[in-house]
Amino acid sequence: MRLDRFVCKSTELLKCDAIQHINNGEVCVNGVAVRNEAVQIHENNQITLKGQNLTARAFRYLLINKPANMLCSNVDGVYPSIFSLLDVERLSELHIAGRLDADTTGLVLITDDGRWTFAITSPSGECHKVYRVKLAKPLVDDAAERFLQGIALDGEQGLTLPAVLQIITAKEVLLTLTEGKFHQVKRMFAAIGNKVLSLHRESIGAVNADVEVGQWRYLTDAEVKSFN
Ligand code: URA
Repeated sequence: MRLDRFVCKSTELLKCDAIQHINNGEVCVNGVAVRNEAVQIHENNQITLKGQNLTARAFRYLLINKPANMLCSNVDGVYPSIFSLLDVERLSELHIAGRLDADTTGLVLITDDGRWTFAITSPSGECHKVYRVKLAKPLVDDAAERFLQGIALDGEQGLTLPAVLQIITAKEVLLTLTEGKFHQVKRMFAAIGNKVLSLHRESIGAVNADVEVGQWRYLTDAEVKSFN
């Protein structure tokens, strides 16, 4: 973690004030004043500010069951932000680990731990996201095979990563993805001549949208570790 981020996480200081203290030589790493705010520090480093030991606050990990017509954004826009549903402190430090469209419902993970987010959102993490999809038209026969082989999305080079389609009825499916391109599910079905009527994210890895719509909870330690 960067030194300025550590100072912010362990104090009530704003980033600009943390940087000022660092540049003034008031922050020491293992007893040595470090004036560069971008220096990477490690868990076992001893950090002091004006001689006082700093201890970073623990990262936070939450899930929310997103209602329709709310935004996965830190600020309100045409619809209110899902952050308005969270009654937690220091909201501005949190970010969303994989956004949903305004009309999509279901599981959204929220954290202040960038590395954890990377494990979830990067295709290299191979983290499974399961979507329940209701369709306008019956599925074409070769849909599952085409999704497994990869789909050429409009305006993109290459193919989508293999995606697993589980057919529930001709117009309702579960789709498992390991990546999260812009409007990916809607564009995949558009590419095979269909249209998504409703989209709900049921799970990410081992974590399910198991609270009421509009409710949130902290993740358990086991859930947090399941993504590392
Ligand atoms: N794919 C979409 O098209 N929309 C979402 O919200 C999530 C995945």
